[in-house]
Amino acid sequence: MRYAFAGLYIAMVLALLACTFLASRSYKKISGAVAMQVGMTIPPVIGNLIIVLSTSWLPAKIGCYVYFIGMDAFIMALLHFAFRYCVLKWPSKKLHALVYAAVTLDVVQYLLNPFFGHAFDIEPILVDGENYYRVVPYFGQAYHRAVVYAIFFAVLIIFVVKIVKSPRVYMERYSVILVTIVVTGLWQTYYIFSRTPIDRSMTGYGIFGLLIFYFALYYRPLTLLDRLLANMASDMPDAIFFYDAYGRCIWANQPAIDLVGIPDEKFDSASALLQAKFGEKEDFDELEWECKKVLGSGNEATYYYQAKRTVTDEKGLVTGAFLTIRDVTEQERLLQQERYNATHDALTDLFTKEHLYTCIRKKLDRELKKDFLILYIDILNFKLINDVFGSAFGDKALKDIAGCLRKHFSRTGVFGRLGGDTFGVCIPKEDFHEKEMEELLAKYTINDGMMDHHVVIHIGAYEVIEREMDISFMFDRALLAMSTIEEEYQQHIAYYDEKIRKDVLWAQHISAQLKDALAKRNVVPYLQPIVDKNGKIVGAEALARWLHPQDGFLPPASFIPVFEKNGMIIEIDRYMWRCACEILSDWEKKGRDLFISVNISPKDFYFMNVTEEIMGLAKEYGITPSRLRIEITETVMMTDVDNRMRMLDELRAAGFIVEMDDFGSGYSSLNLLKDMPVDVLKIDMKFLTKTADDNKARTILQNIINLSEDLGIFSLTEGVETKPQLDMLCEMGCKLFQGYYFAKPLPLTEFDEFLEKSQAS
Ligand code: C2E
Ligand code: CA
Ligand code: CA
Repeated sequence: MRYAFAGLYIAMVLALLACTFLASRSYKKISGAVAMQVGMTIPPVIGNLIIVLSTSWLPAKIGCYVYFIGMDAFIMALLHFAFRYCVLKWPSKKLHALVYAAVTLDVVQYLLNPFFGHAFDIEPILVDGENYYRVVPYFGQAYHRAVVYAIFFAVLIIFVVKIVKSPRVYMERYSVILVTIVVTGLWQTYYIFSRTPIDRSMTGYGIFGLLIFYFALYYRPLTLLDRLLANMASDMPDAIFFYDAYGRCIWANQPAIDLVGIPDEKFDSASALLQAKFGEKEDFDELEWECKKVLGSGNEATYYYQAKRTVTDEKGLVTGAFLTIRDVTEQERLLQQERYNATHDALTDLFTKEHLYTCIRKKLDRELKKDFLILYIDILNFKLINDVFGSAFGDKALKDIAGCLRKHFSRTGVFGRLGGDTFGVCIPKEDFHEKEMEELLAKYTINDGMMDHHVVIHIGAYEVIEREMDISFMFDRALLAMSTIEEEYQQHIAYYDEKIRKDVLWAQHISAQLKDALAKRNVVPYLQPIVDKNGKIVGAEALARWLHPQDGFLPPASFIPVFEKNGMIIEIDRYMWRCACEILSDWEKKGRDLFISVNISPKDFYFMNVTEEIMGLAKEYGITPSRLRIEITETVMMTDVDNRMRMLDELRAAGFIVEMDDFGSGYSSLNLLKDMPVDVLKIDMKFLTKTADDNKARTILQNIINLSEDLGIFSLTEGVETKPQLDMLCEMGCKLFQGYYFAKPLPLTEFDEFLEKSQAS
């Protein structure tokens, strides 16, 4: 019998050792306390094992010590475990110290027992015909029991209190441990007091250790999980349907019941109801999928996100599935709104440039058989419109035009707002009716609430020939076409054609070479003589010519407008002024009293300080300022008037002579003339030739000359080609003349020859 127990104890020790090892390896938080608890169950069992096997006094006594002291360790480990398991802290340090002191004292008194014999002794009894030693308790043993039981009851109380205080779902977690402890405690107590020869309570310890190991580490209270999951599922806003392994719906939460209208927990009907609501397409019996679904349309549409997932066991077998359906209408609306905002202009509600480009690309790629036009639409002087009529009117104009685009192009075209006051359209060629559009634009007005205002709109059109070309390049071409429209004429639409293409290539060609050409002095000044009424040469106008190594002789008309447009004109002008100064300084040395007029482009005023530049050059070359004449056009005075007046005044104050070039060409206003800081009025015959014989033109000319005279401004007529013209102008009182009648613009050497010849005659 005792050997049977011995065997049982050995088996237990081994099992407990294994559990201790496993617990110490576990990743769970509680595992440390569990390992200690299970490990500390071993010493009492070993103590008993020794006692059971001992037939003589000494080993039996040693076994007892191991048992009792081991018991102290066990009870402390149990207390520690209880605190950890119930997530408690010691209420006070004093209490903590007191418990440790009581247990330590118990250990000490056992260690003193061999000397005083106050704790216990052992006495032999016969079991199976052999000596078995059982304990005879004394005073010390009573203390031991008191300590152990006190702690034991404390542990019980801890668990009871925890159970009472915790939410119901956690009760099981604590109850399981409590029951284990109570059963072990009762088992132990029974054997202590029953004084059966062999202490069977140890079996209880062993089992206690194993149970704690299992319950604390591996046991998952199912009711707890069940309730947690069920609570979670029913509280979720998503509709959830649970399916068994056979695809039958076994449960659905409230949102799910409401969604498809499951009657009285008849979950079986869910599949059919789902199919009825969301259509036949999705197979609700299928295992794993997710999708988006729309019910209804327009503002009434409801969007759902649906996902079905399967649940498998360890072997990978399907044990069930669940379907979640979420109403994502709000997110979807937001998304759509965001998408709309990103692709639509807020003011006009038209496509943005980027989106328009994308749409055009798609259209061109889709409708391969059709020919398309790209239209670049621009409001002329929109900035001015905004300034004069206010931005509210400007906004209205943009909206009106957007409406107009919708009306005319929405059937077959795509269109959008490219930027500030520009719009873009892509339309099949056959659907663009140029004449109709011209008529519309000719009388296009916008009403400010009181009256109609004429708004000038220009359209550049590019016929899509190279379909693969970047859309932005197509608009660049349409824009180029538009920029060729002259404002004065009653034309509003221009097409991109071969000439424009060539012009662009030409502009690129010469722009790339300008710097080099100036450095190599391939650009040269030609001088056109200016004479007085006696035919005496008094000066010359310097006019640029480009002696191009490949393209030959280039007149200014082939490059000046290009550089006027891209601003590179300042390089040429700066260069020409310097050339003029060089010539003048040479002339001064030769004692020639002649002036040179140089041209100043309006762009020069944008990109440099003209006054500073001219004065600097004159100083550098030691030029008498009155010998350098400066030709400006009226357009110079169209913007930044005050500043430019001041600059011209400065030049005049310094002695330079300012000439108003091409008077009569543009907006020439006699009224403006009286405020102009100019010394000479250059009247171009060209602008009068057409009507030269006309009395009206004659009258105008006469009046201009008279008026300039009155204002103290010299008049100079250029473009004089015939003797009668000269005579007429002389009669009218014109002072200076320039024109082919006298000489064409000449290279410097020829000019010198011409000068000498005329002086000789
Ligand atoms: P512009 O300043 O009005 O120069 C007068 C133009 O009229 C010159 O043309 C000249 O050759 C031409 N011309 C002179 N007499 C007659 C005539 O009797 N009959 C006709 N039909 N034409 C005559 P060009 O040299 O071709 O210059 C054209 C324009 O190029 C100039 O007009 C000027 O605006 C511009 N330009 C020339 N050189 C320069 C320059 O260095 N800088 C700037 N900014 N512009 C220049
Ligand atoms: Ca000129
Ligand atoms: Ca001129």
